[in-house]
Amino acid sequence: MNIILLGPPGAGKGTQAQKLVDERGMIQLSTGDMLRAARTSGTDMGKRVAEVMDRGDLVTDEIVIGLIEEKLNGDHGGGFIFDGFPRTLPQADALGALLERHGIKLDAVIELQVDDDALVARIVNRAKEAAAAGQPVRADDNEDSLKVRLLAYYKQTAPLIGYYHAKGNLTSLDGMGSMEEVEAAIGGVLG
Ligand code: AMP
Repeated sequence: MNIILLGPPGAGKGTQAQKLVDERGMIQLSTGDMLRAARTSGTDMGKRVAEVMDRGDLVTDEIVIGLIEEKLNGDHGGGFIFDGFPRTLPQADALGALLERHGIKLDAVIELQVDDDALVARIVNRAKEAAAAGQPVRADDNEDSLKVRLLAYYKQTAPLIGYYHAKGNLTSLDGMGSMEEVEAAIGGVLG
C-alpha cells in the first residue's frame, strides 16, 4: 500500500506514520524530517531553507520534489507513507508523474481532520514535552510560526483535498479521537 497522509500541522500525521512503519513495515517519507536532517548536517540546502522553515512558510516545490524523487529510487519496503508531502498543487502533480514513472500505485489519500484549537494545543504540548524531556524544541513550534503554518495549510495545502477527492482517492477521517482510535480508523482504510 502507498498512501498520503494529509492534514494540518499537529493533526497527528507523524505519529500515525510511525505506527504504520512499526506495524506494517511501511516507509515514512516525511519532507519535514528530511529538511530538518539537512539543516542538522549543515548542507547548503539545509542552510537555505532554515529561515523559511522557522518562519512557518513552505520551502520551494523544487527542493521537496527533489528530496522525494531521491527516495523513490530506493527500497519500496511495505509501501510508502507520504507525510507532509505533497503540500501544494504543483507538488501533487509532480508526485503523480513520479509515481507513474516508478510504476507505483497510490492506494489512498487519508485526510486527518482536527479542529484548529486542538492543533494549537497539540503543538504547544509537543513543545512542552520536548523541553521537559531535555529534547530540542522545534524552532517552528511557537505561536507566531504556527499562525503562518496554519495559513500556509489553508491557502496552499487544503486545495489538495478537492484535488484528490476528484481523483477518487480521498478518505477523510476524524483526527480528534485518541491515538488508538485514529490508528484503528486508518487500519480500516488500509484493510
Ligand atoms: P513538517 O515537519 O511537515 O511540519 O514540516 C516542517 C516545515 O518544513 C514546514 O513548515 C515547511 O517549512 C517545510 N516543509 C515540509 N514539507 C514541505 C513540503 N512538502 N513543501 C514545502 N515545505 C515543506
